[in-house]
Amino acid sequence: MYTKAVYVAVDLLAIASMILIMPNIRHMRRDYYSWLWRTLLAGVIAISANICIAVSPNETFAEISYCLYFSSIDWLLFFLTGFCISYTEYETWLRRLSKIAAVIMAADTVSIFANPFLKNHFYIIETKDALGTVFYQTGFNRMYYLHLEIDYLAVATAFLFIIIAIMKTYSLYRVKYVMILSVLLLVVVLNFIYMRFQLLLDASVVFYAVAGTLIYFSIRSFVPRTLLISSTGRAVDDMNEGLLLFDISSSCIYANAFARNRFGIDPASYDFSCEPIRTVTEELKERGETFGEADYVTLGRAGGKFSENHYRIKYNCLADKKGRPVGSYFLIEDTTETTYYLKELKEARENADNANRAKSTFLANMSHEIRTPLNSVLGMNEMIMRSTDDPQIIEYAENIQASSDILLRLINDILDFSKIEAKKMDMVPVEYSPHDLLTECYDYFEHSASSKDLYLKISCSDNMPTRLLGDVQHIRQIFSNLISNAVKYTREGGVTVNAICENTSGAAVRLKVSVTDTGIGIDPGDIDYLFDAFKRVNEKQNATIQGTGLGLAIARDLVELMHGAITVESAPGQGSTFTVIIPQNVADPTPAGPYVRKHRDTGKKHRESFTAEGAHILIVDDVALNIKVAKALLRNTKITMDDALGGNEAIEKCRNTRYDLILLDHRMPSPDGIETFRAIRAEGANMETPAVMLTANVLKGVEEEYMKMGFCDYLAKPIKSEMLEQCLIRHLPAEKVHLTE
Ligand code: ADP
Repeated sequence: MYTKAVYVAVDLLAIASMILIMPNIRHMRRDYYSWLWRTLLAGVIAISANICIAVSPNETFAEISYCLYFSSIDWLLFFLTGFCISYTEYETWLRRLSKIAAVIMAADTVSIFANPFLKNHFYIIETKDALGTVFYQTGFNRMYYLHLEIDYLAVATAFLFIIIAIMKTYSLYRVKYVMILSVLLLVVVLNFIYMRFQLLLDASVVFYAVAGTLIYFSIRSFVPRTLLISSTGRAVDDMNEGLLLFDISSSCIYANAFARNRFGIDPASYDFSCEPIRTVTEELKERGETFGEADYVTLGRAGGKFSENHYRIKYNCLADKKGRPVGSYFLIEDTTETTYYLKELKEARENADNANRAKSTFLANMSHEIRTPLNSVLGMNEMIMRSTDDPQIIEYAENIQASSDILLRLINDILDFSKIEAKKMDMVPVEYSPHDLLTECYDYFEHSASSKDLYLKISCSDNMPTRLLGDVQHIRQIFSNLISNAVKYTREGGVTVNAICENTSGAAVRLKVSVTDTGIGIDPGDIDYLFDAFKRVNEKQNATIQGTGLGLAIARDLVELMHGAITVESAPGQGSTFTVIIPQNVADPTPAGPYVRKHRDTGKKHRESFTAEGAHILIVDDVALNIKVAKALLRNTKITMDDALGGNEAIEKCRNTRYDLILLDHRMPSPDGIETFRAIRAEGANMETPAVMLTANVLKGVEEEYMKMGFCDYLAKPIKSEMLEQCLIRHLPAEKVHLTE
């Protein structure tokens, strides 16, 4: 009794496991699923019949249960074999065999169920175990052996297909076939044991359940072979890259659609000597590489036109698990679009560079060409002012000077802006006195402010160091832009400039300068665009006020280049305050004390700052008017002045006459200023005479270049008479120079 209970319990567990698996196999391919699902169903019926056998109350019940059991085993094996054939992908065989097998199984089932009448398969033997429990066993007749043979044949067929699959399959998949094979073997062995030893109950059927479970898990864990092969094949065929596979003897074993279509490759007749493989492998060989990448270009036809097709071909080795070469592959990437795109990009960049170069050259030329006549205008105008006392004429001349100054500022602004844009603006720190800087600003704008009846007030904190270190030229430019705007955009009231020094401890300070006016002010909405280049705000109101919209943009850029900040506070109709904060190094920390503006000589009449009797200089320029200007500016200095209209004349003059100083123009028809300078330095009486470059070329870096070449100084045109005088004082022999003040 106890044995039967254990037996029934195990059977029930087997049924439960099969029923649990049945819904889970639904995700499998349809044909696998239907075979396996039916196998499990037959298994459930067989085990249920087995339970009935164990609990049979009488012989007849036992006999019918046995009929059900034997026939369901038939179908179970039929379905299992069907699954094995289907799973090993022998579809044609499955189609051929399954119908015949189904007929045989059906016939066998019918003959088994005839057993209660014909006793053709088995008869029931009633036995008792030691405890007296009744068991119904079977004795076998001839037909049963036929039934058994049919079953063994089914199992053998399943074996056959599984073994073939194991032999043919790639190792990864072999495992799952081996698992199925072991399951089949187990079932057969157990069945054999049951038959051979005439066991009271047949336990082998339980293993059908185990078989189902194992098969299910083996299938879940391993990707079906066909799926992988067909999907990779498809995916590789669909790829937008070419793939060519070669075996170890360099014959083509595979070419995907891309490779076949683009290069007309037929794997059957394709080898290493065919294009483009030959070109690529040869190129790699030339480079001394076995594998690698190379570019390949072919001529194709697109839209009736011939066009180049570019490819990048990667050649690499195929190796087995142990790293032994088994072949090679080529990956072909179409780079036509990228190549054309890069080419276009390169061309666009070259064009942009050329345009930029053209712009720079244009700016340099324009600046040069405008500065040269302006030099004459300003020089001659200066001479008019020096040579007359007639207030009317002086007023005219002053107007000419004011307009020329505006023109000059305009050229400088445009040049500065393009220099900043091209990141060619360098900061050159020099020592300077903040008090002097403020005074210079005052002197420069005092006249324009007073001519509009505006006040110009300057104040400075007492703790301002005596000398700072910074790019004073650009700081002056920033302040000038702000003060000039304040004066420009103010109708009544005036302008206040206040300088303070923050953070005075240590070697660095922050110079904070605010420029406050009582002018028209700026709309809050315009403040955001104020520092944009070429942007003028409130254009209607400012239509009559001259400007380019560059001043603030340059000021902002310069402040940023100095790592400072510029801010603005303004209210329409009430005025504006621009504040600039610039970090500066301290050269002399002694506080400069209260700011007192030094009175400078504001008399309009010019007086030379020195005389240099006995000094002998040579002025070289290809424009006679420029020579005239320079000579006029120095007329009262008592210097003896020679001139040369061009390089050749200068070289000639320098051969025998020894000069104290040579003023040399740069841009002259051959030889230019530099060639002339070199020729003068090479031989003759002036091999050591200091030479000053006088030029309208004010682009970045020229000053250093001139210095490197050996010039002692550099003066930008239009020449300011003070600058020229200062330069001469510096470079003429000291014993010949007599300062007039
Ligand atoms: P612009 O050459 O036109 O003066 P800026 O770049 O110096 O160019 O200034 C840009 C604009 O900002 C000016 O057109 C003007 O409308 C406005 N602006 C600048 N400073 C002031 C100011 N102090 N008061 C009122 N408006 C100003």
